[in-house]
Amino acid sequence: MIIVMKSHASESDIAHVVERVKALGLNPHPVYGVERTIIGVIGDERLIQKEQLSLLPHVEDVIPILKPYKLASREFRQENTIVHVAGVPVGGKGVIVIAGPCSVETEEQVLGTAEAVKAAGASLLRGGAYKPRTSPYAFQGLGEDGLKLLAKAREKTGLGIVTEVMEAAEVDLVADHADLLQVGARNMQNTKLLRALSKIKKPILLKRNFSATLNEFLMSAEYILSGGNDQVILCERGIRTFVEYTRNTLDLNIVPAVKQLSHLPIIVDPSHGTGRHDLIVPMSRAAIAAGADGLIVEVHPNPSEAYSDGEQSLTFSAFRELMSEVKCIATAMGRNIS
Ligand code: PEP
Ligand code: MN
Repeated sequence: MIIVMKSHASESDIAHVVERVKALGLNPHPVYGVERTIIGVIGDERLIQKEQLSLLPHVEDVIPILKPYKLASREFRQENTIVHVAGVPVGGKGVIVIAGPCSVETEEQVLGTAEAVKAAGASLLRGGAYKPRTSPYAFQGLGEDGLKLLAKAREKTGLGIVTEVMEAAEVDLVADHADLLQVGARNMQNTKLLRALSKIKKPILLKRNFSATLNEFLMSAEYILSGGNDQVILCERGIRTFVEYTRNTLDLNIVPAVKQLSHLPIIVDPSHGTGRHDLIVPMSRAAIAAGADGLIVEVHPNPSEAYSDGEQSLTFSAFRELMSEVKCIATAMGRNIS
């Protein structure tokens, strides 16, 4: 439920209510607004009666949140959340473009790609050091050496780093190197990993599982938010359907649906969403037109030789083309590229 404080409530009035909520065995999440403060109350609501909160001094109202996800809901927070990643705001007026290879392969590959995408106007650099591959015989990533190469690329270009973390035990190591920690589609419901990520002070990119409903997607975000990390960016990356001409079906419906139900930013991954390099530019345009806050796309200096996902990777020149087309759509939508 949400406790709405009276507009004149002072800091100590708010602190008093926060303490009462804790004493009742629930978790308070205050949001300090310009007009008034609201306090999200999370936990087993059967423990209390509404009156135990509504009769506290300086409380204006107590409103139940009907959705199963609470902190992720628009009911909890009306304004859009803006997540800052290495100084880049995500979820505001600007549209962001995260670009880079599927996997970090060599120093030359990652530094070369970082320079090229930076020159074309990318906001952040992506690259997988820990790779969740379908086959145990496929390239599994360079691990910590890959993280070090990404850090080197950040030093050279100034681009913030986005990379996947696959296990709770590796969260601290990945967080030491990355600016935005990616939860891959296969791990969207790895609740141990989500809980570990809820305890760190770095933003999280949560990718939708290919069979997850919108409700399940937002419940996974709720795991991270409820543990104390409010910096979550959602990512649509395609779902499984009967179609065989693309790797996945990019569910752009979810972009405006998320915007209605949640205050969290959402970006789109047209690389995994289509699996085809020739469909990435048109689907990127569509994603921004649908209201996405940005894109994450795979770019490789030589896609035919990529260790993973070459068929859905853009060349440097195709990425420059994507940037110019996306700029046109962003402008038409009253946005720009951050
Ligand atoms: C990736 O971004 O390279 C990746 C593995 O994505 P997903 O988890 O969406 O398959
Ligand atoms: Mn990939």
